[in-house]
Amino acid sequence: MTKTFQQWQDMAQQLSIEGRAFINGEFCDATGGHTFDCISPIDGRLLAKVASSQRDDVDRAVSAARHSFNQGKWSNVSPRERKAVLLRWAQLLRDNSDELALLDTLDAGKTITDTSTGDIPCVIYCLEWFAEAIDKVSGEVISTDPSFLGTVTREPIGVVAAVVPWNYPLLMASWKFAPALAAGNSVIIKPSEKSPLSILKAAQLGHEAGLPAGVFQVLPGAGDVGNHLSLHKDVDCLAFTGSGGTGRKIMHNAADSNLKRVWLELGGKSPNIILKDCPDLKRAASSAAFGIFANAGQVCSAGSRVLVHRDLMTAFLDHLKEATASFKAGNPLDPDTTMGALVDEIQLNRVLGYIDRGRAEAKLLVGGTRSSPAAGGFYVEPTIFSCADSQPAIAREEIFGPVLSVIPFDTTEEAIAIANASEYGLAAAVWSADIGTAHEMGRQLRAGTVWINCYDEIVDMNFPFGGYKQSGNGRDNSLHALEKYTEIKSTIMRLR
Ligand code: NAP
Ligand code: MG
Repeated sequence: MTKTFQQWQDMAQQLSIEGRAFINGEFCDATGGHTFDCISPIDGRLLAKVASSQRDDVDRAVSAARHSFNQGKWSNVSPRERKAVLLRWAQLLRDNSDELALLDTLDAGKTITDTSTGDIPCVIYCLEWFAEAIDKVSGEVISTDPSFLGTVTREPIGVVAAVVPWNYPLLMASWKFAPALAAGNSVIIKPSEKSPLSILKAAQLGHEAGLPAGVFQVLPGAGDVGNHLSLHKDVDCLAFTGSGGTGRKIMHNAADSNLKRVWLELGGKSPNIILKDCPDLKRAASSAAFGIFANAGQVCSAGSRVLVHRDLMTAFLDHLKEATASFKAGNPLDPDTTMGALVDEIQLNRVLGYIDRGRAEAKLLVGGTRSSPAAGGFYVEPTIFSCADSQPAIAREEIFGPVLSVIPFDTTEEAIAIANASEYGLAAAVWSADIGTAHEMGRQLRAGTVWINCYDEIVDMNFPFGGYKQSGNGRDNSLHALEKYTEIKSTIMRLR
């Protein structure tokens, strides 16, 4: 049964929050008792003092992970057994999904409707999907000279560290830990200092489900934890979702240490292209509004640039304004709220800074203001700029907030050129009544995901997710994600 605003507020009052690190099967304080303040962006309230892990804690977590891996406590048990534990964990997550949704809402300012009906169900789906997959993927037998038998098998890579972001705190963690654990690795999660709480609760449930000590660690921290992990010589793989700047540092650190495998998912500036023969302009406009205002625009695949054929511009903008009216910043704990808070004051100022630049470089059509549905919180109203061309910074740089740039074009060639003139290549969309045109354009778009006549609509673990160009490398989700967390072994046997 769905809860009311009052019921969620009451539950928030009674919540007991775990803020310690989870290392080698138990919760523990950071060395020296260091903590950082975990603040709710809903109202600026202190939620918890959270362990600020130190270098020694990183070393302890890595050595616990290495030890469990070498002992084969997880890496060497049968896929069926691993599957059973992961499915038990998924069930415990389901049993505790209200609490997990509430933690992500309090910690990151996401609406409770999104966390309870989107994020947490998708976490469970992700974990179950990889759990179910793991005893169904097999290796290869190679056609060789008959006096040989040759096999190609996959083995876990070892110690996998994942540095995960705050926009979907538990979901983005699960996109890393589910395939990494399914493949038999030992894992260390470094959550964002902006949203460390839900993964700590999940760690407790994983322990209850039977994950052996050392197989799963959570190291909250603010400052140097990620850096120690990416420089650590005993970490075999580092998976990251976040900004390009940090992604670069991680690659440098891998080069400067042990050439650990590095997988990066780095965001984008995704173009949503409305061609002259768009089959349903009203639908395209409401989809465009959803594509940028969902999760207050804090989405790596947000459709932050809408490219509209010049002849449709007036009609499209009318529909867009109407669709935008259904997004209004409100208290995230209210189930009627359609847009929550930005994650913290840093992100708020970043977004407001871009809005100021936008006022100078483009025409403000909607929004552009900070609002305060709950005192002390960090809210910005949905904002739309009309740009003369694709030159303004707001039309080129990732803002990671509810700010949309609308750009006109005259020909499909021009639309493709504008769409591809970006350092990013995460996602793109095309709206056309002609499936041939849509397909041709889809092929020309340099992006890891292309939507045709929709935007970001289905959540399905079978689709790989990731970017071209500086949006990253490797893919989350699907069986392709398992490849990131395994090594391939060729075995050649002489039979006689
Ligand atoms: P960020 O700087 O990219 O990442 C911060 C995380 O990286 C923290 O957990 C930090 O941990 C860790 N880190 C820092 N240096 C590291 C290193 N050398 N090696 C490994 N890990 C390291 O993200 P942010 O400051 O939260 O957000 C900034 C911008 O990133 C946003 O405005 C947005 O544009 C983008 N972003 C993109 C996504 C996405 O989905 N692609 C998600 C979130 C943010 P320690 O400080 O403890 O080391
Ligand atoms: Mg927070």
